[in-house]
Amino acid sequence: MDNDAFFARLESEVTALGAYRASVIKIAGVETDRVFREMCAKNVCGNYGKCWTCPPDVGEIDDLIAELRSYEYILVYQTVTALEDSFDFEGMMAAGAFHNKLTENVREKLAGEKFARSLFLCAGGCRICEVCGKKTGEPCRFPDKAMASLEAYGVNVSKLAAAAGMKYINGQDTVTFFSAVLFDL
Ligand code: SF4
Repeated sequence: MDNDAFFARLESEVTALGAYRASVIKIAGVETDRVFREMCAKNVCGNYGKCWTCPPDVGEIDDLIAELRSYEYILVYQTVTALEDSFDFEGMMAAGAFHNKLTENVREKLAGEKFARSLFLCAGGCRICEVCGKKTGEPCRFPDKAMASLEAYGVNVSKLAAAAGMKYINGQDTVTFFSAVLFDL
């Protein structure tokens, strides 16, 4: 099977699982910036230092960018969920839970693919455990499943969306999340 056919199959499998869109592009088209680490350090999300896959525990930004750049391909996928209005906090949380579940399902589904190696990245940090072991003073409970966010690896997600032919924002009263799978053949 040629690469294009393989990539098309990956994309259709991820959309069949619930992604709005999915696209494989070369990692060379991905823009990264160390500034995203500084934004994490401002701790707007409250997770800085509270999750094994979030900064600073996830690793040094330069090392992670180099790791990302060592791959050849990235499968980018997005979910787009309608909200009742821009104050729909419950809808926002449900959309995040839907996206996180999709990310876990993508990982499970693609685990059997013949990638030479792969790295699964999510939106906003690992959500596998209700309370991360980092908060309870334990080691990571599922190191084989834990996922870091695209931002933790310095990815400019709005530029990534454009590079993958997707919209970063999908209209009023919607919320969009992105995850990705880095891989080599
Ligand atoms: S698997 Fe659990 S303990 Fe490990 S990083 Fe994810 S949430 Fe934290």
